[in-house]
This record gives sequence, C-alpha cells and structure tokens, in this order.
Amino acid sequence: MRKKVTVVGAGNVGASCAVRLADRGLADIVVVDVLDGIPQGKSLDLLEAVPVSGVDVKISGCNDYSATAQSDIAVLTAGFARKPGMSRDDLLWANYDIVKATVEQVVKYSPGCILIVVTNPLDAMCHVARAVSGFPKNRVIGMAGILDTARFRTFVAQALDVSAEDVTAFVLGGHGDSMVPLVRYSSVAGIPLTDLMDAAAIDEIVKRTRSGGAEIVKYLKSGSAYYAPSAAVAEMVESIPLDRKRVFPCSVYLEGEYGIRDLFVGVPVKLGERGAEKVFEARLTESELAALHKSGAAVKELVDVMASKLAELQPAAVAG
Ligand code: NAD
Repeated sequence: MRKKVTVVGAGNVGASCAVRLADRGLADIVVVDVLDGIPQGKSLDLLEAVPVSGVDVKISGCNDYSATAQSDIAVLTAGFARKPGMSRDDLLWANYDIVKATVEQVVKYSPGCILIVVTNPLDAMCHVARAVSGFPKNRVIGMAGILDTARFRTFVAQALDVSAEDVTAFVLGGHGDSMVPLVRYSSVAGIPLTDLMDAAAIDEIVKRTRSGGAEIVKYLKSGSAYYAPSAAVAEMVESIPLDRKRVFPCSVYLEGEYGIRDLFVGVPVKLGERGAEKVFEARLTESELAALHKSGAAVKELVDVMASKLAELQPAAVAG
C-alpha cells in the first residue's frame, strides 16, 4: 500500500512541501490548515497536475484531521513566519499554541506516525511536539540542518563556480544565529574547502549561512523562505518510506551525544523507516565542541522559558 503523508499548514512552506512530495510520487498527501478553502483549493490544483507529472498519488485538502488518519509521516509547517527584524525565537509563544494544537490532532488520528517539525523556533518546537505527542525520540525530527547545509553549499558553489552537487558541508547546532558550520568537514569533490578558499572568504560564507534566513526575510518583507526549506523536507521524507538510511543533519533529542543531554539540537542522523535511527558522532575539536554547546545553550534558554508549560502537558499518545 502507498504511504501517506500529512502536511499541516497550507501556507508557503506547507504548499511547497506538498508540491515537492507530489512530484516525487512517494506517498498520498493530505494537506490540512485552519483556513477554510485554502488546503482544499491548493490540493485540488496540485491533484490536477498529477496527469502531467505522471505520478500516481492521491492529494486532498481539509480542515478536519479525520482525513489525515493513519498517516505514516506528518510534516508540521503550521505557524507564523518571521518578519523583517524578528528572530526565529520571537515566534516562540505564538507558535507554541499552534504546534500544541496541531500535534494533538495529528497524534489522535495517526498515533504511529513520524513527526517532521518545520515550525520555528525549530528546536524548541521539537520539544513541544515531543511533549505533546509522547512519541519516542526516533519519531520526532526537526528540519533545519539540510537547509542550513544547502545554503552553505550554494555559497561555496557560487564562490568557486562549481556544481553545488560536488560541495559537501556539515552544519551542526540549533537552527538559529548560533548554528555551527563546520568548515573542517566541508569539501569540494573530497578536496578540503580550506585548500581551495582563504580563511576570510570562508568566514564570509559562514556568516552568510548563519543569516541566510534573515537575508531572504529582508527581501520578501512579509514572510520567510520556502523553496529551499521544502526541498529539504522532501529529502528527509523520502529517506523514511524508502528506508534509504541517508545521513542528514537533523534536530533530534540528544541523550548524551556530543555531551548534550535532554535537548533537541542539529546533528548528523541516519533516516530510515523507523525515523531517526542513529546519531553519528564526529570527533570535534575543543573549539568546535564549545561552539556546539553554545548553540545548545541557546536552545535550552527557550526550553527553560517553556518548562512549566511543557511539564503540564499530557502526552496525546502512549510512547512506543
Ligand atoms: P505561512 O504563513 O505561509 O503559512 C503558515 C500556515 O499555517 C498558514 O496557512 C496558516 O493558516 C496555517 N496555520 C496557522 N495556525 C494553524 C493551525 N492551528 N492549524 C493548521 N494550520 C494553521 O508561513 P510559512 O512560510 O509556510 O512558514 C511556516 C513555519 O515554518 C514558520 O514558523 C516558519 O518560521 C517556519 N520555517 C521553518 C524553516 C526551518 O528551517 N525549520 C524554514 C522556513 C520556515
């Protein structure tokens, strides 16, 4: 039987995710949103593209979660996007309520699904999704690292005038200003980046990657990025039903890896049919580890702010 993916939120990121997933023909898709008519209209439009794109998937839109029942994966994109001058962290309380409400509904109808969290502030919202769902840690995964890595790769490819496909990069940490692009692990067709670019040029790229989201917000003025984020989501989703075991930087709940405990932070993760199947631990230098811990501390600050609310939550599903 074909797999089923629910996309929560039919806005810029959610609708783009639906398009990319439909084009890959991986699963039937249900798009759900609070706005009446928007998920229905966008889904019908997308369904009418199916004969042209030559995939066999069903696509529907709804406001009621009963249509999402028995989903294998739910991609959570509902929530406010930032405006110029805002940090992702400024969205904390507005999006807390939305993530709480949407996860309760998703889990009610799909207690066995894997949650892919996209809503910002990403790592903090993963904590909310985990606390509300009661899911085991392999079934709550945050998307950010693939996007941050893709930005880094794009800027390196531009600077060296090479295909971005041949640029590998490694970005760790929370999805915020303190993310940690690891230059030592970046290469072009296996050649260390440090052999090809001088330190100042690499530093510029690191800085631009860190503020890559804000750069787009500044242009758009009334929203944030969605083409690259949805491409990143599609990569993650694909690795799960196809059990590809791809290794991506994703935000997962750490229990001692990299010396970090009880926090969602971006690290390299193997994605397969059980979700986040394994965290890979790279041997970091002291300063790299310190940067990662600093990034983790920024996530912890937000989690601490939510601590009393998170403690009151009754998990919607029995962990298993
Ligand atoms: P958007 O405003 O275009 O869409 C958000 C959608 O969520 C809207 O259609 C809205 O109606 C819907 N929504 C709001 N409350 C809801 C609820 N209770 N139930 C169902 N739907 C609800 O915003 P966007 O550009 O699609 O961004 C969505 C989120 O993704 C934002 O929080 C943004 O910051 C985040 N984001 C994260 C990353 C990442 O790397 N993790 C990248 C880009 C965007």
